[in-house]
Amino acid sequence: MTASTHFLRETSYRALPPEFFTPAPVSPPPAPQWVVFNGGLAAELGLPEGAATPELLEWLSGGAPPKGRENIALAYAGHQFGYWNPLMGDGRAAMIGEIVAPGGAAYDVHLKGSGRTRFSGRGDGRATLSAMLREYIVSEAMAGLGVPTTRALAVVATGAPVYRQTPQPGAVLTRIARSHVRVGTFQYAANEDARRGQGPLLTKALADHCIARLYPEFAGEPDAYLAFFAQVVARQARLVAQWMLVGFIHGVMNTDNMSVSGETIDFGPCAFMDGFNRRQVYSSVDAEGRYAFNRQAPIAGWNLARLAECLLPLFDADEGVALGRAEKMLDEFRPAYGAALAEGLERKLGLKSHDPANETFIAGLWRLLDASNADFTLFFRRLTRVAGGAGDSDFLDLFAQADAAAREDAARFLADWRGLTAGADSSARFELMRLANPIVIPRNHRVEQALAAANEGDLQPMLRLCAAVKHPFREPPAPEKPEDDLETPPRPEEQVRETFCGT
Ligand code: AMP
Ligand code: MG
Repeated sequence: MTASTHFLRETSYRALPPEFFTPAPVSPPPAPQWVVFNGGLAAELGLPEGAATPELLEWLSGGAPPKGRENIALAYAGHQFGYWNPLMGDGRAAMIGEIVAPGGAAYDVHLKGSGRTRFSGRGDGRATLSAMLREYIVSEAMAGLGVPTTRALAVVATGAPVYRQTPQPGAVLTRIARSHVRVGTFQYAANEDARRGQGPLLTKALADHCIARLYPEFAGEPDAYLAFFAQVVARQARLVAQWMLVGFIHGVMNTDNMSVSGETIDFGPCAFMDGFNRRQVYSSVDAEGRYAFNRQAPIAGWNLARLAECLLPLFDADEGVALGRAEKMLDEFRPAYGAALAEGLERKLGLKSHDPANETFIAGLWRLLDASNADFTLFFRRLTRVAGGAGDSDFLDLFAQADAAAREDAARFLADWRGLTAGADSSARFELMRLANPIVIPRNHRVEQALAAANEGDLQPMLRLCAAVKHPFREPPAPEKPEDDLETPPRPEEQVRETFCGT
């Protein structure tokens, strides 16, 4: 380690038993170049000014780490689209260290696209520039929206092509996360077929690592493992509710893509919905709709049940008692999710909290969205404008293309909304709604345009999009050109139907 990279210290993950990781070989790319360095995040993490040195560039591109340091690939298993895979692991990623932020929280630093590892199988260990920039844009948007998420510190171009259907520019993303321990990491630890009697020991070591990192207040408590699991359940419930409130579809909620920290992780064919469709899927590999918009909560519950199975030996020595405890905790998921969703919708709609009348009204909201396919973001944005004193016409225009019944429903919805919100302080309501309803989300057609431009060497559209999605509740500047309009939904010919842009 040298002075310029001193902020990257050895990760505490290395203290885990050797089964959990393996050295990641280094494969220096031919011509590493910064594409983006996230100065805002660097400051939040307490990195020194000028942290983006040539030495760091080399390390973050998958090249040699400083003397005395070694990158590691993490081992994990998982259910992919419901099918058990006993060995996955970082096939194109590596953990390089951790950063302790000014508040004292430690963050893993992980490279994605940094080359082959023992877990690569037939994969090339590489990533395309467009897939890495997509993760950069969408994770910045999530952070701007206040949704817990892994972040991107940098994207570095490697200068080497990556072969997908066609040759594409290659890149490495630096991901920052409170934890890279996935449900699949626990499945890996607890899998007795492979661990041969070591499962409970390894599971305990992993749980202790997670508690020390994420929930230190539980360490040493008599029911620490139950408390840990309860926290994972609670955070996941809140996380998925937050996704639903902004129309986010993760796309690949395999157990290896769900972190025990409650951060959104692994941005693949994810997307924000334009026109509402509760069965919306953007991933071309999800023909069955397993991870559709309205399946996300039940799937998170399913994944948590897989985690509970792994933790059973830690809950109690008696299997029956352990199972009872696990089920009790799992039962908390649905009400916790329901409460977080309802509370979020009350804010989005400016309703009085916990009003018994809200439930029926909210059921009507989903029906109206379903019947009309109105743009999800604009629906709440325009309702917010109505709350701010605008006339009804902008809101009702959203339903101009819908059938007569949906148009009538929209008018009735607005009347019911007025009834429910009457009497309360209207400026407080407007403020509440303004801060709950984003104006700018990374709409798929704008993301694709920004990525296409970046592939041609023009980073301006991507940087502009990133700057806007960081402040999603701010009115964006009036667009000078039509393609600068980040607010308007795509025209039919601009619509993106799939966001699986290769790995
Ligand atoms: P993901 O779809 O990103 O969750 O990846 C699923 C698994 O495939 C993980 O173990 C990845 O490390 C691995 N993987 C994905 N792409 C590649 C690649 N290009 N080379 C090697 N492994 C990969
Ligand atoms: Mg993954």
